Amino acid sequence: MFELSAEEEVIRDRARELGERVVRPEARRSDEDRVFNRAVLEELGRAGLVGGPIRKVYGGSELGHRAQALIYEELGRIDSAVRGFLAVQTGLVASCIQAWASEEQKLRWLPPLCRVEAIGCYCLTEPGAGSDVAAMSTRARRDGADWVIDGEKFWITNGNVADVALVFAQADPEKKHKGITAFLVPTDQPGFRREKMTAMELGHRGADHARIRFEGLRVPDAARLGAVGEGFKVAMAALDCGRLGVAAGAVGVHAACLDAVLDHARRRRQFGQRLGDFQMIQKTIADMHVGLEAARCLTMKAATDLDAGRDATRAVSVAKLFATEAAAEAAHQAVLLHGGRGYSNDYPVERYYRDIVGLEIYEGSSNIQRLIIARGLLGRDEGQTL
Ligand SMILES: Cc1cc2nc3c(=O)[nH]c(=O)nc-3n(C[C@H](O)[C@H](O)[C@H](O)COP(=O)(O)OP(=O)(O)OC[C@H]3O[C@@H](n4cnc5c(N)ncnc54)[C@H](O)[C@@H]3O)c2cc1C
Repeated sequence: MFELSAEEEVIRDRARELGERVVRPEARRSDEDRVFNRAVLEELGRAGLVGGPIRKVYGGSELGHRAQALIYEELGRIDSAVRGFLAVQTGLVASCIQAWASEEQKLRWLPPLCRVEAIGCYCLTEPGAGSDVAAMSTRARRDGADWVIDGEKFWITNGNVADVALVFAQADPEKKHKGITAFLVPTDQPGFRREKMTAMELGHRGADHARIRFEGLRVPDAARLGAVGEGFKVAMAALDCGRLGVAAGAVGVHAACLDAVLDHARRRRQFGQRLGDFQMIQKTIADMHVGLEAARCLTMKAATDLDAGRDATRAVSVAKLFATEAAAEAAHQAVLLHGGRGYSNDYPVERYYRDIVGLEIYEGSSNIQRLIIARGLLGRDEGQTL
């Protein structure tokens, strides 16, 4: 199952080549200067890496989830902010439009999103509603043929640069998650206000994160994605693709940590021999390799399930949980193995160490993945609503 096809190998090699040529030279500067580097993303779009799973008729490359996972891994190996952009643009927004939007909306948004001539964002999290999505207080109310949306979202990746936003709002609070409704909103509408998040982030410093306010934002009913009350389903279906991107991105970070460790363990000498010749260091290297292999297998298993059209929610959660936690441990060990050097930005491992924490939090934290896995195994008790 985990042998790559010839086509998958070509895509992986292409992503690797572009990552090295286009992303790597900018990665450190983007992080240190906190710059959202649009030119890099546009080049990935022109090279066909952004519209992976989108059908060719809408400007995409019609790749499977496995091939897409390889792209995420290769970009994640170099820059989590760039890989994170892609997971939102492709995995959450474009995939959602392809699955749920009208033909008119697909033709309007998918070709420019695939080429990065337009940017999308996914507006779910609110100050009072993170893991508990159903607690959202953003409201959508009917007003004649339109909807009027009021509320606030934050931590929205691409939010300040997006041309189109996937907005989740509560249309019937009494129904809790069954009242949530999804809308596709051009960001140049009156009532769509956004600002950069002011605090300095731990990682993903080359990414754009916004606080967005909807103040009497008026949208026609044609902007709705899915039926009224189907927004939670839209959001969760999108997260299956998005979380696969996070798992594969974590595999990339893990691989980058192992590469850095091997390089350092070969070069650095103490007590008259290479660091890598000490058995305790070899344990670290072996454990990192085993974790990486396992994370990659789980990620490809989830991608294979998605490609086969099987219900992949649990497999994706298993992959995201394991891959992000294994990569976080690998990043910690990579910094330690570099000694004082690892504690400074002379070496890239400190950025991997900062970035990987974000992957453990967004698109559902580790604990939320554990809830999804365990509840799926247990099944619901009669009358249980949570
Ligand atoms: C870099 C970055 C980019 C992001 N991009 C986006 C984006 O594009 N769009 C978007 O909508 N959101 C985005 N987010 C927000 C992200 O999805 C949320 O931060 C995440 O879902 C967690 O929500 P929270 O921060 O409110 O934490 P909380 O929900 O308050 O959770 C805090 C802690 O409590 C734990 N916890 C919560 N509930 C339970 C429970 N029932 N059982 C056990 N433990 C629990 C969590 O695991 C976590 O460790 C982004 C976040 C980051 C850091």
